[in-house]
Amino acid sequence: MPAKKVILVTGSSGLVGHGLRAAIEQEGRRADEQWHFVTSKDADLRDRAETEALFDSIKPTHVIHLAALVGGLFRNLDHNLDFYRTNTQINDNVLATSHKNNVQKVISCLSTCNFPNKAKYPIDETMLHCGPPHETNFGYSYAKRMIDVQNKGYYNQHGRLYTSVIPTSVFGPHDNFNLQDGHVLPGLIRRAFDSKADGNPFVIWGTGSPRRQFIYSLDLGRLFLWVLREYNEVTPLILSAGADREISIKEAAELICETVGYHGEVIQDTTKSDGQFKKTVSNDKMRKYLPDFKFTPFKQAIKETCEWYAANSDKVRK
Ligand code: NDP
Repeated sequence: MPAKKVILVTGSSGLVGHGLRAAIEQEGRRADEQWHFVTSKDADLRDRAETEALFDSIKPTHVIHLAALVGGLFRNLDHNLDFYRTNTQINDNVLATSHKNNVQKVISCLSTCNFPNKAKYPIDETMLHCGPPHETNFGYSYAKRMIDVQNKGYYNQHGRLYTSVIPTSVFGPHDNFNLQDGHVLPGLIRRAFDSKADGNPFVIWGTGSPRRQFIYSLDLGRLFLWVLREYNEVTPLILSAGADREISIKEAAELICETVGYHGEVIQDTTKSDGQFKKTVSNDKMRKYLPDFKFTPFKQAIKETCEWYAANSDKVRK
């Protein structure tokens, strides 16, 4: 039997962490994998001493590093410095402590919004540092890009297999449904339920024309399991459905209204920022490894997320 992997998952209480847990439950636990899911209550990863104490107690051989200060467009706009500093601190502590504790593999999580604003589409993994990110989230993006710089450094200087994945916009159960702090899909879901309940018009923030690729948190969790077990490159890997699954915010909003059963007035608030118009990514690299991976159909994933929201609306983050 292979040596047991002791896997530490940071940031496990969030959207992506819950998707990973759901994927593990769906697949069934493997005997050679021991999982430890932690949150900021176990250690504030901005603090080196707390990070080291956490690693001392768990003694991980592998780390899936999800913990981050995360927010949607509107939170990022006003807090770029906080996003840069907090994420830089967390990432440096996790990577340095992993190295100090001889962790064999670390998988960190970047985002497609970290790519350059002006890019040739579709964007691929080689373009991460080829130009400034969008102005709205430069703090978060530069902090995340530095993970790739550190991974390269840990490999060059110490032969470490510290790598990263780059998912597109994630959605699913346990998302942040706060209208100011959250991402676009949970915002639309919440507003559709609110409009259905109070009869007020459903408002799309911005023009609705920006286009996005979305990934369901359960699918991302399944992909994380594959990366943990099989992906042995230091360079990042985009985790995304194909460019053909890119849709406009307006199209997503219409599907959500239909799913929720809201049939009233729909208006656009064009005083709100649109953010980046599009950031179409290529999943060619992923497809070379996983030609047969099946993503959950978008409609089904939206339905499951809306059902989860309806069943948990009293305790969701909002
Ligand atoms: P959430 O905001 O849902 O969860 C963030 C997690 O990080 C929580 O578990 C939180 O713990 C933890 N955390 C935050 N600050 C600290 C800290 N100082 N010390 C320890 N833990 C902390 O984020 P997501 O699940 O959406 O994101 C997970 C990862 O995926 C992030 O790295 C993010 O950048 C990346 N990502 C997310 C995308 C998305 O669309 N959501 C898209 C692409 C990448 P607690 O609950 O205790 O506060």
